[in-house]
Amino acid sequence: MTLNHDMGFETLCMHFGENREAHFGAAAPPIFQNSTFTYPDSATFHVRQGPDATRFDYTRSGNPTTRILEKKIARLEQAEDCRAFASGMGAITSAVLSCIKTGDHVITIETVYGPTRRLFSDFLPRFGIETTYVRGTSIEDFESAIQSNTRLIFVESPSSLFFELQDLKAVAQLARERGIATICDNSNATPVFQNPIAMGIDLVAHTATKYIGGHSDVVAGLVVGSRERIGAIGRMESELLGATCDPFASWLMLRGLRTLPVRMERHRRSGLEVARFMASDPRIARVFYPGLDVHPQHGLAKRQMRGQAGLFSFELRENTQEATFRVVDSLQIFCIGVSWGGYESLAVPLQARDPATGAPTWIIRLSIGLENVEDLKADLYQALNALT
Ligand SMILES: *Cc1c(COP(=O)(O)O)cnc(C)c1O
Repeated sequence: MTLNHDMGFETLCMHFGENREAHFGAAAPPIFQNSTFTYPDSATFHVRQGPDATRFDYTRSGNPTTRILEKKIARLEQAEDCRAFASGMGAITSAVLSCIKTGDHVITIETVYGPTRRLFSDFLPRFGIETTYVRGTSIEDFESAIQSNTRLIFVESPSSLFFELQDLKAVAQLARERGIATICDNSNATPVFQNPIAMGIDLVAHTATKYIGGHSDVVAGLVVGSRERIGAIGRMESELLGATCDPFASWLMLRGLRTLPVRMERHRRSGLEVARFMASDPRIARVFYPGLDVHPQHGLAKRQMRGQAGLFSFELRENTQEATFRVVDSLQIFCIGVSWGGYESLAVPLQARDPATGAPTWIIRLSIGLENVEDLKADLYQALNALT
């Protein structure tokens, strides 16, 4: 069967890039759990090529199971190519390093994912790379931070903890006019809800540990972009820093992708329902969720995204550590834990800087899982009752 390229997203998730006839018709591809690939003779060995060749050479530079995943993700993100990594941070550091060198300047957002922020604030200064942090809710924030040596704008939309958006088309245009590269962490939206490459962003990074894996059983990452950029990452950051994806992790991501569209639709529906329920409760001060009509960036969310995932945070009116811990500790279905995007609902109590005022505030971040939504609402309601 030849697969044409105009199939719907769900069909692509399941069938694109698979070559079942090469694997005895197996519905799920084999895990090529091998480090090296052998050759029939010296002449063949001497013409060995990269991961697009019919042959593979060594799993750090390419693996057939991982290659199915990479082809599929590139297609889903409307990009030319993809490299898979051992973690989201492996993907992010490789993408970032592919765009900068000593003496360069980077712009990113204040609310970027914590370890990504530490890459910019604690690690890259060792190599003479400085970063400016902007709120990023207006394009002027980026424009006014540009210096003559700015080489990269790194965005994450919606961002971590407060779920603020950046106008991706505007950021991409601003950067492109000045020869600045752009990277977007698209882990929250997933390719189901947002395609930054189609809006002009150069590279998209994902942690596949979250929604793409979807079952809290794999740590992995992905970078997508043009053939040229991904080829360069393949030869340099991926091959040399070696944060390569394990074939079993690739296989688990392929499994996750088969249900990604149906899972995301449920996360979206339940997330919106729980966020509305929380926003109507008088004990809650603010709900940080771009899917709500009252969210200041709801218009932008509707313009550049096809929906919102099931991830948001809220702030209690009683804004203390004690009250925040009491609510979280009273939850019975939600588990307490970092990460998100799995089948299970998670809650974490955090103190973070309000991006609007810079003042520290206590928030509870929820990852709305795939449980019955009435159970989740009832659990949150009874936990809030612990306040009185
Ligand atoms: C978890 C996370 C990452 C890092 O992914 P790992 O797979 O844990 O390395 C990157 N970006 C965002 C937004 C995340 O939430």
